[in-house]
Amino acid sequence: MPPPRGRPFRTERIDGAVVTRHDPDQPWRNLPVVVTDPAQLAATAGSRYTYSRNLLMLQDASPALRLAFVGLPYQIGGLVKGQVSGLKRFRPVAFSVALMCSETFEETAFLHGVLEQRVGLDLRRVTKINVKGTLLVHTDQPLDHLADGGVPGSKARVRQDHVVEIPLREVRPTARAQCGSCTDFAGELADVSVGGVGMDGWTMAVLRTPIASEWLSAMLDEHVLEHKPAGELPAASTLLDRLAAKQRDRGTSHVGTARPADPS
Ligand SMILES: Cc1cc2nc3c(=O)[nH]c(=O)nc-3n(C[C@H](O)[C@H](O)[C@H](O)COP(=O)(O)OP(=O)(O)OC[C@H]3O[C@@H](n4cnc5c(N)ncnc54)[C@H](O)[C@@H]3O)c2cc1C
Ligand code: SF4
Repeated sequence: MPPPRGRPFRTERIDGAVVTRHDPDQPWRNLPVVVTDPAQLAATAGSRYTYSRNLLMLQDASPALRLAFVGLPYQIGGLVKGQVSGLKRFRPVAFSVALMCSETFEETAFLHGVLEQRVGLDLRRVTKINVKGTLLVHTDQPLDHLADGGVPGSKARVRQDHVVEIPLREVRPTARAQCGSCTDFAGELADVSVGGVGMDGWTMAVLRTPIASEWLSAMLDEHVLEHKPAGELPAASTLLDRLAAKQRDRGTSHVGTARPADPS
């Protein structure tokens, strides 16, 4: 990857960011990408609940670059382990952002098996997917097939105009098995972790390092972000602690379960 010219990001600290965007050929499939200007970055917004191979983008990154890396907690874990081990490919990352996460779904089973085939959605017309105690799929397609009694084999219902609600128990069987042993909801090794934690219209950001504080100050100075101290949002802070503890318990419940079969 050639180094970008100039410093197109607002901060003088980084040249670009490893993020993920929609695959133009396969809607809602993630395609990892290095972006080097704010417009490209803005086009990657939104959560996609399937795996993205972001760490692979560092394979060919020039060591002369300074990159931000956005990823799920287990990816940040891999990144930090690589950096601590001195692996060259991880050197360009100067700033890491973790997306709080309790699970992702298998691409084929979730996107094609549940959304397309079972619920009858056209992935090209899905505009947003969100988890708020239930799976909310926003779409710009007419949803008449879900209006009266829904579709056989599914409890998916129209929640409001163009929003389909699918109970999580219908989607859970498509969760990646690895997530069951993941202990890190909050992305504890990242400079910054971000998550919705039950809020609407706000994102919780947990800052852990000087570069993270500098980033927030710069964003506030430039009026890019609005901010409230976490103390003003006690329910979100409590939920964050609860989800982090729950995930630690879920993950550690697997300790000692992987034993070779008893030969007797
Ligand atoms: C799989 C997944 C599970 C999540 N689970 C929770 C949860 O349980 N609780 C919670 O509070 N928050 C969760 N989040 C985080 C939350 O959904 C938002 O991503 C976060 O709050 C940031 O929102 P934003 O509007 O600030 O970011 P945006 O402006 O929407 O930017 C999001 C960035 O994340 C990147 N991205 C999107 N999908 C992926 C992906 N699958 N893998 C890697 N990078 C991706 C995009 O490239 C974009 O740069 C999850 C996110 C993901 C992707
Ligand atoms: S729960 Fe853990 S293993 Fe599963 S996708 Fe999220 S960070 Fe990765």
